[in-house]
Amino acid sequence: MALKQFKAESKRLLDLMINSIYTHKEIFLRELISNASDAIDKLYYQTLEMGDTGLDRSDFAIEVAVDREARTLTITDNGIGMSKEELDNNLGVIAKSGSLQFKNEKEQKEDIDIIGQFGVGFYSAFMVADDVKVESRAYGSEESWCWESKGLDGYQISPSGKESRGTVITLHLKEDTEDEQYGEFLEQYRITSLVKKYSDYIRYPIRMELQKSRLKEGTGKDGKDPEYESYFEVETLNSMTPIWKKSRSEVSDEELNAFYKEKFYDWQDPVKVIRTSTEGAATYSALLFIPKTAPMDYYTREYEKGLQLYASGVMIMEKCADLLPDCFSFVKGLVDSQDLSLNISREMLQHDRQLKLIAGRLEKKIASELSVLLQNDREKYEEFFKSFGLQLKYGMYDNYGAKKEELKDLVLFYSSTEKKPVTLKEYVSRMKEDQKFIYYGCGETTERILQLPQADAIAEKGYEMLCLTDNVDEFALKILEKYEDKEFRNISSDDLQLQSEEEKKASEQLEEDNKELLTCMKESLEGKVKDVKISGRLKKHPVCISTDGMISTEMEKVLNAMPA
Ligand code: ADP
Ligand code: MG
Repeated sequence: MALKQFKAESKRLLDLMINSIYTHKEIFLRELISNASDAIDKLYYQTLEMGDTGLDRSDFAIEVAVDREARTLTITDNGIGMSKEELDNNLGVIAKSGSLQFKNEKEQKEDIDIIGQFGVGFYSAFMVADDVKVESRAYGSEESWCWESKGLDGYQISPSGKESRGTVITLHLKEDTEDEQYGEFLEQYRITSLVKKYSDYIRYPIRMELQKSRLKEGTGKDGKDPEYESYFEVETLNSMTPIWKKSRSEVSDEELNAFYKEKFYDWQDPVKVIRTSTEGAATYSALLFIPKTAPMDYYTREYEKGLQLYASGVMIMEKCADLLPDCFSFVKGLVDSQDLSLNISREMLQHDRQLKLIAGRLEKKIASELSVLLQNDREKYEEFFKSFGLQLKYGMYDNYGAKKEELKDLVLFYSSTEKKPVTLKEYVSRMKEDQKFIYYGCGETTERILQLPQADAIAEKGYEMLCLTDNVDEFALKILEKYEDKEFRNISSDDLQLQSEEEKKASEQLEEDNKELLTCMKESLEGKVKDVKISGRLKKHPVCISTDGMISTEMEKVLNAMPA
């Protein structure tokens, strides 16, 4: 039996497309500018292939202009242009990508960094426009043509008078309604900020004539009131070369810090800038920042983690959460890769191996950079830890301790003997020869812990004690179980193993001698305590409460406070 071909109802498809694949109307500008950039790229490669054509990279540009009266927005490029057939094929057939075809026809595909591939981006113009006109003159052609459409009903192609090479796209913006504002795309600030947001790293200049204001000459001084006049000036809106693609020697620390503050809305320099790029299994560049202080909403549910994601210099996602593990959710920054499988709207990624691979490498990199910071700049690290240490400790405990090995050397706890935050490694390196455990005490403040009756015995032995003041601390240690084969021990637990054999014997004897007293005390405290014992570890205090189970009194408090 002959195979029947699927037929698509083009109008319905177009309607579906226009209204359902994009969540943000504003991306139409990104799509049209990407197309313009692709068209220039194609011409550029073409001329490279043909040898000297008298065209220079510096001649290429994209222009954006608005006409408020006419309600039009135009995007002009001097790229490769389209012939009549190409207008018909590329803009008349949904999901046909001339760019993908171009890329496939070329032999050295790797070097071609063309953005288009799905053949749908162009139609996003209909989200904001009720009339779209495309005038184009193909490179080397004598004629130019105009493609025009008012939407679902179809399109027309007629001769045009365009004299220069390239394409001009004119959008007539829809009339504003009560709940939809299309006119905003005629505002200069809106256009300039959209170009900055999505197309800042397009490699050709995106220019626009901007209306500005200045002090009128001869006014504002010698007692004359200031008067202002407006004037026009053409400006390049995009910065073109991504800062992360520049070599290290080209970019100063100040520039990186300024970039961070501007892009990620912080007023302080970051504690650490991490730059990394790889080729091979996954090709990407990443520029990451560790902020100095936690944003206001950091420890709340409102906080969204994620890195910006660029594909070939165009921003695809503002916060890609999959690129960061929770324990490093405080990291800001971006990743630029050509290797990602994007979904059709280019707003999201298909969850793929590539992304996982990149995320895994970034995680290792962040962990190793933090460890370098800890070794080389203790003061800075402690400052960092004040802001984000809690997150690292949660990270250790989270997911049944999946990340505990990675994080165990990055966490700090206040030490009773050093009087400052220390690592577990440092603690263990100072342990006394006869010391069996890593001792810790829990409480609301360090001072309180140091005053616990049980702390005296530890101090008397010359042992160090870690002071755990955050709720999560003890959980983090419990999930670690041991550090370098040393178990952790809460100083309020029953068995601290501080006594020598003789001391043990002596207290057993004491217990025997005072049996009656102990029974009497136990009876009067019935229901409040499990047992009353003579203790060898009390020094200055007459009495203390101890626990014998896995769970300390402090953990019990946390557990009781948790919602059921
Ligand atoms: P994609 O960019 O994914 O290929 P689009 O719907 O954005 O899909 O564009 C469809 C095709 O139309 C492009 O592949 C390209 O061949 C052609 N095209 C669009 N805009 C231009 C332009 N400014 N200059 C030349 N060709 C263009
Ligand atoms: Mg496109």
